[in-house]
Amino acid sequence: MARIHNFNAGPAALPLAVLERAQSEMLDYRGSGMSIMEHSHRGRTYDEVHRRAIALVRELLDVGDSYEVLLLQGGASLQFAMLPMNLVHDGRSADYIITGAWSEKAYQEAQRAHRRARIAADTGVDNVFSRVPKQEELQLDPDAAYVHFTSNNTIFGTQFHEFPDTGSVPLIADMSSDFFWRPFDINRFGLVYGGAQKNIGPSGLALVIIRKDLLETARKDLPSILQYGIHSSKNSLYNTPNSFGIYMMMCALEHLSELGGLDVIERRNQGKAELLYDAIDTSDDFYRCPVDTASRSTMNVVFRLPSEDLEQRFVAKALEKGLTGLKGHRSVGGIRASIYNAVERRSVEALLGFMDDFKKTA
Ligand SMILES: *Cc1c(COP(=O)(O)O)cnc(C)c1O
Repeated sequence: MARIHNFNAGPAALPLAVLERAQSEMLDYRGSGMSIMEHSHRGRTYDEVHRRAIALVRELLDVGDSYEVLLLQGGASLQFAMLPMNLVHDGRSADYIITGAWSEKAYQEAQRAHRRARIAADTGVDNVFSRVPKQEELQLDPDAAYVHFTSNNTIFGTQFHEFPDTGSVPLIADMSSDFFWRPFDINRFGLVYGGAQKNIGPSGLALVIIRKDLLETARKDLPSILQYGIHSSKNSLYNTPNSFGIYMMMCALEHLSELGGLDVIERRNQGKAELLYDAIDTSDDFYRCPVDTASRSTMNVVFRLPSEDLEQRFVAKALEKGLTGLKGHRSVGGIRASIYNAVERRSVEALLGFMDDFKKTA
């Protein structure tokens, strides 16, 4: 079996143990004579998986009773639309912190939904985002329905290491490439959401954690499928859920829990990122990270080589050596190594070895 070193940005690497478990349970899930995919989503067997997945989210992130956990479809992108539709009303507007392509998309969707969205900060310079804003740069509307930000910018490789302070205005984060790699205080947030396909599962599944007071005041005159309230009142079983995706997320979270939880995985992730940034910073400018040091992401490490030609050769040669997913996002270029939870330290070490060799022969 040839498992490759996978640095994909998303969908991304899953732990081998999780894939092996899914394989072993595929044909006969716990003696039921069928796979979990073939079970009714209203039956006892699936219901246990569904509840266990939600319980693990609560356990790992220490989510209290004042929050609801929702498992939805449509990815993070549907949340870009559902947020303003549900939460911006009564003549208010919503504040958006722009730090890259995903936060721009979220902002644009808010404008489409109600045309009442404001930019509270924008760190772009000619469409390049090399940092996240400082607290004092935020121009916040004290009457905003919420403040939205992207806590890790998957494409530009920047990350908020401290979350914005928005006072009593609910803080909302797109955490697609940010949740479950370290502990964080959910009580700082009105709502967090993200697609599962970066750190905790396959694509086609979005996780939303919403504070109950926001659920109560959310709009109820929307199509049912778009209402947080409906999904919550049906425990995310309003319609047929992505049952296999939820099963895979359950397996990934169980695995994370067995490893020792978020404290343990945080240390591992910090260790991997340090290795890689050190290698870049000590390469005599052959490799160069375009991101401000204080904004560097622990999940997506972005770097450049002296020329685009060398970057293309780097990606091609890496693939020959069994390292994949290293091409930067098409809008940015360069190299990006995504080193989520499931990327092992030995994969990062293999990348460092390759970087060293490539530099010598370039
Ligand atoms: C990947 C990603 C998205 C897009 O997620 P979809 O599931 O494709 O909608 C949105 N935001 C961030 C920060 C991402 O990394």
